[in-house]
Amino acid sequence: MTRIVVIGADAAGASAASQIKRRRTDWEVVMFERGQITSYAACGLPYWVAGQVPRQDMLIARTPRQHRARGIDVRLGTEVVGIDPRASSVTVRTQDGQESIEGYDQLVIGTGALPVRPPIPGSQAPNVATVHTVPGTQDLVDQLTRSGSAPRRAVVVGAGFIGIEMAEAFLDRGIAVTVIDQATHPMVSFDPDMGAVLAESMADQGVACAFGQAVREVELDEAGLAQAVLTDAGRYPCELVVLALGVRPNTGIAIEAGLPVGDSGGLLTDRRQQVRDHEDIWAAGDCVETYHRLLRTTVHMPLGTHANKQGRVLGLNVAGEYATFPGIIGTAITKVGTAHLSRTGLTEAQAAQAGFDAVAAKVQTSVIAGYMPNPGRMITKVLAERGTGRLLGGQIIGDRVGAAKRIDTLAMAIWTGFTAEDLTGADLSYAPPFSPTWDPVQTAARRLLPTI
Ligand SMILES: Cc1cc2nc3c(=O)[nH]c(=O)nc-3n(C[C@H](O)[C@H](O)[C@H](O)COP(=O)(O)OP(=O)(O)OC[C@H]3O[C@@H](n4cnc5c(N)ncnc54)[C@H](O)[C@@H]3O)c2cc1C
Repeated sequence: MTRIVVIGADAAGASAASQIKRRRTDWEVVMFERGQITSYAACGLPYWVAGQVPRQDMLIARTPRQHRARGIDVRLGTEVVGIDPRASSVTVRTQDGQESIEGYDQLVIGTGALPVRPPIPGSQAPNVATVHTVPGTQDLVDQLTRSGSAPRRAVVVGAGFIGIEMAEAFLDRGIAVTVIDQATHPMVSFDPDMGAVLAESMADQGVACAFGQAVREVELDEAGLAQAVLTDAGRYPCELVVLALGVRPNTGIAIEAGLPVGDSGGLLTDRRQQVRDHEDIWAAGDCVETYHRLLRTTVHMPLGTHANKQGRVLGLNVAGEYATFPGIIGTAITKVGTAHLSRTGLTEAQAAQAGFDAVAAKVQTSVIAGYMPNPGRMITKVLAERGTGRLLGGQIIGDRVGAAKRIDTLAMAIWTGFTAEDLTGADLSYAPPFSPTWDPVQTAARRLLPTI
């Protein structure tokens, strides 16, 4: 019987296992997971911390029991500690320390990523958290809901996607929050001018912002608990610290096995998610580098949307069908309180670094028709290549629902090779409760035209 071994039971691994088992019911699919849960929405963790999602189990898309009912042999509390590509086997270790060798015909690696934890003195204190796993986040939720001694002040180190989502979570909980970042503006995946707009909104909403400061130390009290974060410019007292400094591919065992990785440490695969030069090893999700269609190179872009799609593609291929993952263009969306923000394609700096001569236009508009109640405000920035007019990127910040998700219009335009002129004339929907007459992405594209 053909035996498929899957490492990791979340977005990538579990998607792949499900696809394979659905198509090859007679194959043995064994999924090793070092934790105790499967198919969980890490993306929802900040909203659980915020209290918007009331219960942990609401974040679980498919339990181990549900996977088993579909014929997948789920082994919880079982870590894969070694891969031997020559012997086509992995070494697994259970929680009681027992090790065994498990053979495979095809191996699927979906080990995800690990939070970056630089060696900041004091950062190992029990009230210094990362938001990455359900059990780890449970500890954080427990601290926040502890009667009598719940924290009143939190510091978030890092103003990327997870950092600003955690700032919102603390605001929702009524906890004073300071966000520290060594960059001079939040969200370095946006242009600095858009980051400045976000910083202003965060400050207006009551988030204390300490940008352009490097964290030196977490100051501990006599009990060994964090009581302040020290930077090269200040001291920020708190009872809770969240480190949100990004993630790196969790590929230690793959590297030890000699599998190919890129500069980020992410596994290198072909478009079918097959690990390069290894016909029986496949990988998907946060542990791989992904082809960027504009940069024409692979990058590490750890997002659930890619992990799920890549897991599906991988599963179809292992099951004997043919599918390819088409690559990415860097589309992402988030919010901090009333600031809704999104991006796609290249920033001005990325475009210049990639050798594009790019022009940019930025417009401020209402989100819906200006004469409607609560029309909102949004800033839309669009980039295109000088000469050809080919769209290269865009960013949006708006203050009501309906603003940031418009990035998908821009993403599809870039995806299909639209020029600014194409987008300006495209047939988009309009009615006053939804949009100004000219959709803001079209207004921005039109503003670009004379500069191309
Ligand atoms: C707080 C937060 C918010 C996020 N928000 C968004 C969002 O809004 N939108 C978005 O697109 N993405 C978001 N993401 C990213 C998204 O959650 C990840 O991209 C996605 O979970 C990756 O799936 P994965 O299966 O590749 O890896 P993971 O989800 O990390 O799963 C890997 C699994 O493998 C297991 N494992 C690892 N090593 C081993 C081993 N050696 N043996 C056995 N098991 C192992 C792990 O325990 C884990 O269960 C967010 C992530 C976080 C943490």
